[in-house]
Amino acid sequence: MPTNPYAWLDDSLQTIHRADWYRSVQTIQGRPGATVLLAGREVINFASNDYLGLAGDERLIQAGVAAIQELGTGSTGSRLLSGHRELHRELEKAIASLKQTEDAVVFSSGYLANLGAIAALVGKRDLILSDQYNHSSLKNGAILSGAAIIEYPHCDVTTLKTYLTQQRQNYRRCLIITDSVFSMDGDLCPLPALLDLAEEFSCMLLLDEAHSTGVMGKTGAGCVEYFGRTGQQLIQIGTLSKALASLGGYVAGSATLIDFLRNRAPSWIYTTALSPADTAAALAAINIVQQEPQRRDQLWQNVAYLKQLMSEHLPNLKFLPSASPILCLQLPSATAALTTGKHLKAAGIFAPAIRPPTVPTSRIRISVMATHEPKHIEKLVAALNQINRHLR
Ligand SMILES: *Cc1c(COP(=O)(O)O)cnc(C)c1O
Repeated sequence: MPTNPYAWLDDSLQTIHRADWYRSVQTIQGRPGATVLLAGREVINFASNDYLGLAGDERLIQAGVAAIQELGTGSTGSRLLSGHRELHRELEKAIASLKQTEDAVVFSSGYLANLGAIAALVGKRDLILSDQYNHSSLKNGAILSGAAIIEYPHCDVTTLKTYLTQQRQNYRRCLIITDSVFSMDGDLCPLPALLDLAEEFSCMLLLDEAHSTGVMGKTGAGCVEYFGRTGQQLIQIGTLSKALASLGGYVAGSATLIDFLRNRAPSWIYTTALSPADTAAALAAINIVQQEPQRRDQLWQNVAYLKQLMSEHLPNLKFLPSASPILCLQLPSATAALTTGKHLKAAGIFAPAIRPPTVPTSRIRISVMATHEPKHIEKLVAALNQINRHLR
């Protein structure tokens, strides 16, 4: 009797369940914001990447609606064939202006931007050095490229230097890839040291600014600006789907780099151009990021307030080191993370449990928004305090 070739799927799912690694979707209703409707109940939203609170902003909504009215719903083709619109170019110029780079190119998502850029920049004869905690899109981009990959311990520039000393001369090109704000941890990459190593060992450096665009730096340009390295040659990737509240990704850098990617990045060439609504909404968001620095100020005030309340009221809870609006409560197991997430939800707080294999250790990930009110932050701390007392 031939065995059912799909039977392993059930077994595999059961293993996932047993480890408490099983995941499923949760339905949000209505517009996104500092509070959202989750299964019909209003909860305070600490689960969103909409750091500036723009995803429900009337101006972005109107820009999207107007673009659909004028240009239709779909872009109907790839950029190089029939999908290119003036609006795409306007958005790319706005990104380059925000990032203070010569040029930029938009992709259909940040994930695709990483896959396409990495696969275009290195190949079989080359070496990639990758931070152990990098986002999935960087890791899979590295695999797709066919280059040799060495992972270095998280933010460990000493070990990175050792690897470069031992290995660099065996390869043609070398690319260092890293998140700038680590998405599931909230800490920052050691950018100045990475730039120095890149120069010393003649490596390219690719920085994923997904969580820092609109958030970090005086003008919201990201971690490059935060570290005072604006204008330095490197490859900056980002997304339009976090602080910019739309959908899509980008690469920003020198005009030569961008021109090269338009000719060589497979996930840009062979996919449909960004839709008019997404493009217009992202463009409206960049205008707001540039014209309303008070939103970013408010975000950082909220982060400071939350950190202050945490140190006053939750001194024995362990939070991962963070220099961003992402704050992670460390928990001993996936089960503990799930239980804490459930208690929080019962208390009207939406903050997800993040478990392996996404991260090595389980945690609750809290992300702060500019549009949170002091009472939202106070309720979060009160809920954590209660849960903490129960769990001890
Ligand atoms: C979210 C994220 C991406 C992917 O961006 P999308 O536009 O959502 O595909 C890439 N890198 C990092 C670090 C991210 O956090």
